[in-house]
Amino acid sequence: MRESWHERFAETPDVLKSAQRQRTSVPVLDLQIGGGEFIVMAGPCAVETEAQVMATANHVRHGGAHILRGGAFKPRSSPYAFQGLGLEGLKLLARARQETGLAIVTEVMSEDDVPMVAEYADILQIGSRNMENYSLLETAARSGRPVLLKRGMMATVADMLRSAQMLLDNGNPNVILCERGIRTFETATRNTFDVAAIALLKQISHLPVIADPSHAAGHRELVPALARIAVAAEADGLIVEVHPDPDKAWSDGEQSLSFDGFSEMMASLDPYLALRRQEIAQHEHENRLSEAAGARVMEAVG
Ligand code: PEP
Ligand code: MN
Repeated sequence: MRESWHERFAETPDVLKSAQRQRTSVPVLDLQIGGGEFIVMAGPCAVETEAQVMATANHVRHGGAHILRGGAFKPRSSPYAFQGLGLEGLKLLARARQETGLAIVTEVMSEDDVPMVAEYADILQIGSRNMENYSLLETAARSGRPVLLKRGMMATVADMLRSAQMLLDNGNPNVILCERGIRTFETATRNTFDVAAIALLKQISHLPVIADPSHAAGHRELVPALARIAVAAEADGLIVEVHPDPDKAWSDGEQSLSFDGFSEMMASLDPYLALRRQEIAQHEHENRLSEAAGARVMEAVG
């Protein structure tokens, strides 16, 4: 007999869909991530200066983003690379939220920083390199803030579900999964965008799933296509890097969209998002019909 997904992922029962739980939507300010609307998180890889954060926040808000991203603590592979502005960066993000109304998602790298980051951020981002840092997961979960869990670059879907289960086990239901590409033998792109994982996660888990086309691609010219693919794979949203002057960015400039690039990507998503809205409306209509039919059967037998 064919093994079901539920059997395959039996280790992590709480992240899987069940009769009682088909879908979780994560409340963030006045948004519901996973609630039907396609959520766009956009902003620089790293918070650099006040001018950079404010200009980017204003641009992405006008371009249709809902949430501002930006790292104040950066996981860099070289000790000599820019490590982030820390608390000063968090304060700049908070100022951008005040000015634009955008919610803030930002990475927390250490357990010790969780209380401070949770004070400023609306969503705590757990980075790819920390997906299996269980003590960080536990502390982040207990902060009470929603957690955006990025897939480890060498993590399987099962590994990712284990980390999500750990967050739920620590009393935090507000978990968002993020596919950001995995390492494969291919080196032309920075990572390999695992779209099958998005489709699979959407089928088996009630948690919202978003895509990070920037870290998946590593090259800005590929980002819009990967973003469109994410919509087609039924992702609940995107997290994408945008910078006022990508070639001068202090980190991940190669994969960051310019302001015009962001606007063009958003415009290119429009027909895909229109189709997505139609499909959601059709699905809701079918659900109402089957509920009404069910009620008539109950009446007839009752
Ligand atoms: C980031 O979002 O800038 C980042 C470091 O992402 P990841 O953890 O997916 O590499
Ligand atoms: Mn980055």
